[in-house]
Amino acid sequence: MDVSHLLDELNEAQREAVSAENGHVLVLAGAGSGKTRVLIHRLAWLIQVNHVSPLGILAVTFTNKAAGEMRERAGNLLQVSTRPLWIGTFHGIAHRLLRMHFKEAGLPEAFQILDSEDQQRLLRRIIRDEGMDEAHWPARQAQWFINARKDEGERPEHIEHLDHPVTSTWVHIYKIYQDYCNRGGLVDFAELLLRAHELWLEQPAVLDHYRKRLQHLLIDEFQDTNAIQYAWIRMLAGNTGRVFVVGDDDQSIYGWRGAKVENVQHFQRDFPDVRTIRLEQNYRSTGTILDAANALIRHNTSRMGKNLWTAGEKGQPISLYAAFNEQDEARYVVDRIEQWIDSGRRADDCAILYRTTAQSRLFEEYLLRKNIPYRVYGGQRFFERTEVKDALAYLRLLHNPNDDAAMERVINKPTRAIGQKTVSLIRLQARESGLTLWQAARECIEQGVFATRAGTAVKAFMDLVVGIRERMSDWTLGNQMQGVIDESQLTTHYEKEPPERTETRLENLRELVNAADAFAMPAEDADAGLTELQSFLSHAALEAGDTQAENWEDCVQMMTLHSAKGLEFPLVFLVGMEDGLFPHQRSVEEAGGRLEEERRLAYVGMTRAREMLCLCYAEVRRMHGQENYCRPSRFIDEMPAELIEEVRPSIGASRPYRPARPTGGLSMESPSAPFKLGQHVIHPKFGEGTVLAFEGSGDNVRVHVNFLDAGAKWLVLAYANLQAL
Ligand code: ATP
Ligand code: MG
Repeated sequence: MDVSHLLDELNEAQREAVSAENGHVLVLAGAGSGKTRVLIHRLAWLIQVNHVSPLGILAVTFTNKAAGEMRERAGNLLQVSTRPLWIGTFHGIAHRLLRMHFKEAGLPEAFQILDSEDQQRLLRRIIRDEGMDEAHWPARQAQWFINARKDEGERPEHIEHLDHPVTSTWVHIYKIYQDYCNRGGLVDFAELLLRAHELWLEQPAVLDHYRKRLQHLLIDEFQDTNAIQYAWIRMLAGNTGRVFVVGDDDQSIYGWRGAKVENVQHFQRDFPDVRTIRLEQNYRSTGTILDAANALIRHNTSRMGKNLWTAGEKGQPISLYAAFNEQDEARYVVDRIEQWIDSGRRADDCAILYRTTAQSRLFEEYLLRKNIPYRVYGGQRFFERTEVKDALAYLRLLHNPNDDAAMERVINKPTRAIGQKTVSLIRLQARESGLTLWQAARECIEQGVFATRAGTAVKAFMDLVVGIRERMSDWTLGNQMQGVIDESQLTTHYEKEPPERTETRLENLRELVNAADAFAMPAEDADAGLTELQSFLSHAALEAGDTQAENWEDCVQMMTLHSAKGLEFPLVFLVGMEDGLFPHQRSVEEAGGRLEEERRLAYVGMTRAREMLCLCYAEVRRMHGQENYCRPSRFIDEMPAELIEEVRPSIGASRPYRPARPTGGLSMESPSAPFKLGQHVIHPKFGEGTVLAFEGSGDNVRVHVNFLDAGAKWLVLAYANLQAL
């Protein structure tokens, strides 16, 4: 078979990695140097040249989106079905293993994934039940503690320093929480990984089976693996598996969540005969973008150090837009995207990257106004919206009545006369008899614990759930979803809210039914023996995609910098480049290398861009209901000024970036205009408005004002008779 295509489009170092003969390989290289490409070619090489069965390969990446792309690219190279290949995220793969080996893992068949919000809710309840003061013992902190321990592979009994009162309290909560989860068959995200690790530890036969089967482990974004993931790989590899990892220490951005960049060094120490290969040529970005990114990352002190160069063109300067506020920032970005699309380019070539999820909303608003389709990855995910979670909780309860988190969520939603007092009685019973809420509720009814009215209400609720389950067992998923929404009367619950909110909630519920209708179970879930409902519920908990645009639709890509890892786009906007937002305030205040991690995040963001990079910041930003004057991000000043061009589209000109300009404040004025951008003005005919932009000079200065009632208008300043307010 001719396999030259597997090596043809690779440079020397890349070929060496792809065709490495024996032992383990570490590819350590900067952004855009072809690590992921090498990993995919390696996968194809193993199958076509070394004749490894596709069943013998496990490929791990960081996000579902990246996993999807990897599968597609491998499929294109191989021209055969990639179905037997295990490609996925650590969480996805752990989930699949646990489904297939639920018994060995000590889980009920119907176990449910507990997402982060439900986890916090459950912890809040436990803390309250323990009579502890939530102000001192916040659920969020408990969650952080438990997940961090699990990421280190620790159960309560492994944790030391119990003489420390804070630690011992959290360990106590961890224990109670874990008991609840075990009783109800609930598995949080960190638990997926820990259980999968314990499966290796405690079930030698299972481990042995997978060691024999999965001889090749390929891991992308290795710099962001945490302790438990690393331990999991080591166990699985044993003495026989061959491990191929690719990573970049400069792109380690999950330290705050327990990722250990040291794993890169540990890998060289823990595995024998590791061949380390460095790639230095960047194929992704223009020379300008690459130079700016290299200059920025050089400000970090803890680096393994590497050089990246490109044979590509210098390209256009990086543009920098100083918006006068966050509205102006969104307007500018969306205008530029519109121009890009008008010039015949695709919407999905554009990405808007931001530091915090809340920033997406304004961009969404402006994109909607212009009718430009978009898709938000991560963030307030569709499946995390209250109404969607409520409806899913009913579905979960049908599937597994012992799911305490689901029961808590909907027992009195819509209100059905089951008050806090009744719920407390159920909890008490559950705690005392070591039962799930569902079991405890039944016991309470049998023992006549409730007052008559409450007892009837609880029974009615339970009958409702059982009734739906019996009636709907053979319905399609979409019909089940619709049926649950109708019969639970959830909609009546939302109808009590303000009309605009109700409308959105109902829309989302309709969307959920659509999602269930359109759901096609992935082949790997079918292979793992999941039912359609199980697959759908796990998808809802694990999937990071949103549904604003259909999968196939050409749409603008929006995501946090963290979820942009590994991806690339011709045009990238890095927005909200302000000190306090990016770098994030917390990272500036905290010691321990947090600022360096933020800088790596900026490096990740910049190196996503292929042709054009645009940085934006707002001089004034409304946050938490307050207007703040902002300084441009220190990261901007860490890039060479000659690579940056400040754009002032409103004046119709661009000028070189001057790093030494005064920071903060509404300092931008047209040379001959008496108003500042963002200033409130009044016009005799159009009324009040805000100055958006200027154009021209001397007597010809025109001013763009957004009037509250009359909308945006261009006026010749000399005749406009505007007054400052
Ligand atoms: P990141 O660190 O951001 O994950 P990476 O090192 O994984 O980046 P890739 O995404 O694999 O880099 O590659 C970056 C781009 O360069 C891709 O578009 C890829 O197809 C292209 N590329 C990589 N190697 C070559 C090559 N030898 N010839 C041509 N194009 C290449
Ligand atoms: Mg990559």
